[in-house]
Amino acid sequence: MRTSQYLLSTLKETPASAEVISHQLMLRAGLVRNVASGLYTWLPTGLKVLRKVENIVREEMQRAGALEVLMPMVQPADLWQESGRLDDYGPELLRLNDRHMRPFVLGPTHEEVITKLIANEISSYKQLPLNVFQIQTKFRDEIRPRFGVMRGREFLMKDAYSFHLGEDCLKKTYQVMFDAYCRIFDRLGLDYRPVIADTGSIGGDASHEFHVLADSGEDDIAFSDVSDFAANVEKAEALAPAGERPTPKAALTEVATPNVRSIEDVAAFLKVESSKTVKTLLVQGIATDDNQAPIVALVLRGDHQLNEVKAENLPQVAAPLTFATEQQLLDEIGCHAGSIGPVGLSVEVIVDRSAAHLADFVCGANKDDVHYSGANWDRDAKNYSIADIRNVVAGDPSPCGEGKIVIKRGVEVGHIFQLGEKYAQAMNCGVLTEAGKNQTLTMGCYGIGVSRIVAAAIEQNHDKYGIKWPAAIAPFQVAIVPMNMAKSARVQETAEHLYQQLQTAGIDVIFDDRKERPGVMFADHELIGTPLLLVIGERNLDKQEIEVKNRISGEKSLLAISDVMSLFT
Ligand code: ATP
Ligand code: MG
Ligand code: MG
Ligand code: MG
Repeated sequence: MRTSQYLLSTLKETPASAEVISHQLMLRAGLVRNVASGLYTWLPTGLKVLRKVENIVREEMQRAGALEVLMPMVQPADLWQESGRLDDYGPELLRLNDRHMRPFVLGPTHEEVITKLIANEISSYKQLPLNVFQIQTKFRDEIRPRFGVMRGREFLMKDAYSFHLGEDCLKKTYQVMFDAYCRIFDRLGLDYRPVIADTGSIGGDASHEFHVLADSGEDDIAFSDVSDFAANVEKAEALAPAGERPTPKAALTEVATPNVRSIEDVAAFLKVESSKTVKTLLVQGIATDDNQAPIVALVLRGDHQLNEVKAENLPQVAAPLTFATEQQLLDEIGCHAGSIGPVGLSVEVIVDRSAAHLADFVCGANKDDVHYSGANWDRDAKNYSIADIRNVVAGDPSPCGEGKIVIKRGVEVGHIFQLGEKYAQAMNCGVLTEAGKNQTLTMGCYGIGVSRIVAAAIEQNHDKYGIKWPAAIAPFQVAIVPMNMAKSARVQETAEHLYQQLQTAGIDVIFDDRKERPGVMFADHELIGTPLLLVIGERNLDKQEIEVKNRISGEKSLLAISDVMSLFT
């Protein structure tokens, strides 16, 4: 690729609208542009990264024995009626009618379509087990799209669905997928943790999430320090007075009592003075009408002084929620039953407070209401139940017997789930067994947020100059940066020659032929995060050498032009 024929679209200034570093850098490096809330256009550089992530995911799915399909994004509402989710799913499901006024939805996920397909295609136990996947755009009308493509409304997901005769078989495939996910995140070069996910009403340990560690993450995950955490544990302990139990640093999720109507009530519930500063406050409340049908959601998030958040500016009324039953609502917001009072306002509060306040809180009477949405100790975490990991705080001994608990922020990039018979039963998906009986299939489902991974990778890999891509997903492997090419035929010739050579060898190379000032060219390539820069200057050519700059390590060295290919072996 020649820069002169390319759409680089880099920006000098950081757009004010972008809160987190990955969103800022994705805009500045010309990876994406916003179209509307939660909707993005991927520019050429961003799309190259997205496709590289996608290909790694695809290769590992195929290696794990999954078959690729492609289902439509627009789905008939009938299918959702059949599964029972048309009412259950809530306002994230975008509904629309065609010209004949037939109802459709934009697929937020594809259990219905795939279960229907398999019900029609498969008739015998001999055709099982089966694991199919797709990489397809999803639409979820998120209540608060934010952080760029990290929480978009339209996003790219890899979703896989497996079909089995019985749970034992499902468990085997689940393990295969768990391992494939580890390989994917290893290959992507990301620091991640698989965590046990709370399966809520379904119960059991039948679900894991994969989290990329990043401070901007919206979840807290707990894990053992044995592998990598000595330094941070010291930091956590340093916050607590000597001799005392190490203080938790993490955010907590708790469910407030009914009739919380103002921030003062929230403060009282949390047993903090309303003047104390909280770092992040999320109030997500549901107002209910006389029949206890929930009517609106209230969401507030940001850095606030508690006493600055007055009751009158608390409610931000969002789109009406349309849950059919209170239980569906409770499932959706992860509340415990009974926390919604008649005509009251129930509030879910997530507070990331300073260590000192949190210590007060954890020792308080409400400890039973505190839980983590997921946790893991190490790759063998699969043997622990969610009950083992509730109520842990940083510094606790790990239930695995090794190391202490560490709590960090994570970005959910993958989620695998043992679904059981829920969809197969609702949609009549079964086969004839060896004994000639009809048996309902058992299912697993496995998602990866392909577009979210791009942002998560940047959260973990950047410096003040820009992105530092892991090699596997860098948009270009190498950039050719000629110095003052307009004035030197020799520099131009060498650059052209190297460009041809690298292209012929199948290397993803960008040739900066813009005849810009060196500073401009370096700034752009550092911003978009090309791992290797080949700098061609008049002086080094006397010895037939070029300078090689490594974006990741910052190292510079001279290299004989004839040895260039050694960089890629
Ligand atoms: P979250 O908790 O972040 O809302 P989720 O649990 O609702 O995610 P799943 O239904 O488990 O998401 O979907 C599988 C994967 O799709 C998630 O692990 C995540 O990586 C990705 N994903 C979900 N919602 C979004 C979104 N709005 N934008 C980008 N990626 C998303
Ligand atoms: Mg979600
Ligand atoms: Mg989630
Ligand atoms: Mg999930």
